[in-house]
Amino acid sequence: MIPSIATVSVPGTLLDKIGAIAKAGFKGIEIFEQDLIAYDGSPRDVGAMVRDHGLEIVLFQPFRDFEGLPEPHRHRAFARAERKFDLMGELGVADVLICSSVHPQAMGGIDRMAADFAELGALAAPRGIRVGFEALAWGRHVFDHRDAWEVVRRADHPNIGLILDSFHTLARKIDPDTIRRIPGEKIFFVQLADAPSIEMDLLYLSRHFRNMPGEGDLDVTGFMRAVAATGYRGPVSLEIFNDQFRGGSPRSVAQDGYRSLVALMDDVRRAEPDIALSVPALPPRAQVRGVEFLEFAARGADADALESLFASVGFQAVARHRSRDLTVWKQGEIRLLVNRSRGDFAGSAYATHGASVCDIGLRVDDANACAARALHLGSTGFEQPRSADELPIPAIRGLGGSLIHFLDQPSGLTSVWDVEFGALAAQPSGDGGLTRIDHVAQTMGYDAMLSWSLFHEALFAMQRMPMVDVIDPDGLVRSQAIATPDGAFRVTLNGAETHRTLAGNFLADSFGASVQHVAFACDDILDTVERLTALGFQPLPMSANYYDDLATRFDLDPALLARLRAANVLYDEDAGGRFFQVYSRPFASGMFFEIVQRDPGYKGYGAPNAPYRIAALKRLTRQSGIPRA
Ligand code: MG
Ligand code: MG
Repeated sequence: MIPSIATVSVPGTLLDKIGAIAKAGFKGIEIFEQDLIAYDGSPRDVGAMVRDHGLEIVLFQPFRDFEGLPEPHRHRAFARAERKFDLMGELGVADVLICSSVHPQAMGGIDRMAADFAELGALAAPRGIRVGFEALAWGRHVFDHRDAWEVVRRADHPNIGLILDSFHTLARKIDPDTIRRIPGEKIFFVQLADAPSIEMDLLYLSRHFRNMPGEGDLDVTGFMRAVAATGYRGPVSLEIFNDQFRGGSPRSVAQDGYRSLVALMDDVRRAEPDIALSVPALPPRAQVRGVEFLEFAARGADADALESLFASVGFQAVARHRSRDLTVWKQGEIRLLVNRSRGDFAGSAYATHGASVCDIGLRVDDANACAARALHLGSTGFEQPRSADELPIPAIRGLGGSLIHFLDQPSGLTSVWDVEFGALAAQPSGDGGLTRIDHVAQTMGYDAMLSWSLFHEALFAMQRMPMVDVIDPDGLVRSQAIATPDGAFRVTLNGAETHRTLAGNFLADSFGASVQHVAFACDDILDTVERLTALGFQPLPMSANYYDDLATRFDLDPALLARLRAANVLYDEDAGGRFFQVYSRPFASGMFFEIVQRDPGYKGYGAPNAPYRIAALKRLTRQSGIPRA
């Protein structure tokens, strides 16, 4: 399999695209004709430039409106094709894509179309060119790969073959297993794209909303399994038209593409163990067993404020690192680290983002296998100088610039707390009853949300929940949760559309830091709030109107409602159970804590309450003049 991508999938100039595609790890590139035309250099230059980057041009596309035309259109179509063949010779590419005609004069007729292709095959053969026919989902007469295959079969020419594109097959809900009966050697090229399941005109959906395999709702894996079963072993290429990606960076779009393609082919390899695929054998998706630690970069007054906030929610400083300026705060199973070091990664994270979460430690079954999978998927490994008594805990750079460390028990990495840290004298301060991290809320620009969900789903055994819209008084925030099936690790992604939203403001003020809040679980939230109040915790005050409305939305016991109101606890429920939340006031550049009590069956994150929480945070900020949040 040659991992490939079309130039149209990546934003930027042709040079940007080629550079980013090569750097991401692809081996093949499809030249989209518009990208060539827009480039100020000869096709020969482009071909040389691509090969200088270590890439092979695997396809030239598209050639439109060829088959089934009446004269004089037919004659012109052949003349156009010959000019494209000349151009392909200069570029140095052997395969061309012809997509099914949408020409208003196209007559159809399967034998007429087959005859056109047979004649074209005779022109292509002496030049060593192969022509592939693709059924567009909105083609005038051919819009199903089975019909395109019938045209190719009847053309019966060695230089005429079929091109498959997962979007056209799956968006039309055509069973991909119908591909299994096509001979692999007659499939000349395979393009992949996913898409969200939105009821929409297919042409519009295709041109604006395609996304990387795994980012949408189509069964691209099922499609690729069928392709693999035919014996096809040529290029597998991403052809993505997406408005969000057009504004992104060439590098991150290309990296996402590579990540999605490697994860997909690994899924295909696992699902079809009897098919010999020439793809690397990756370790499986890691099962995350829990959050081992969250590390905050902070210094000076910021670090003091952070630590007093930890103390106010019942954490105790339990240990210090033997060689770094790093303190462990613990409660229940939760470990929060405050890193005041200047020289290491936390030092540069603080310099860039201010007080922020710079590192997340995840407990997995096999830390080295997890890191190896991440590297296969195109992540960058991370190492910094360590002293002889520090453990080699594998780490990668996550998205948004922070680190992710992987720890496991079998390799002894979870013993880091005893090996690298010295216990501090126990303090008599109180415990708040917080047990574990319920979820970590990451904030990013809306454009980056797909990258984040892909990152998590490709590396870990996690699943997305549907996206929800959260109304901020100053704009819209999209929110999407990703979680392990057992809830051991839950992440909520909040995509900000404007800088005026709370989330957008946080991004601007923290220069792109990503963890905006951390939610801790407890077993009895009213008891917890009482305990924390005694420790000096100040909850985010909610409006009286919120509780009046709660009384009309849910059948709540008036005594319970009164207690929720007094404690500023928010409430939600779904078919699976109840959910209680209380928020801290914001600190640093707009981070905050959340404390939740969750019935095991409740699957959400209190999204219906989010608009009121955001309004309350903004109200508080305006009143008190504390850092904008
Ligand atoms: Mg296509
Ligand atoms: Mg939350």
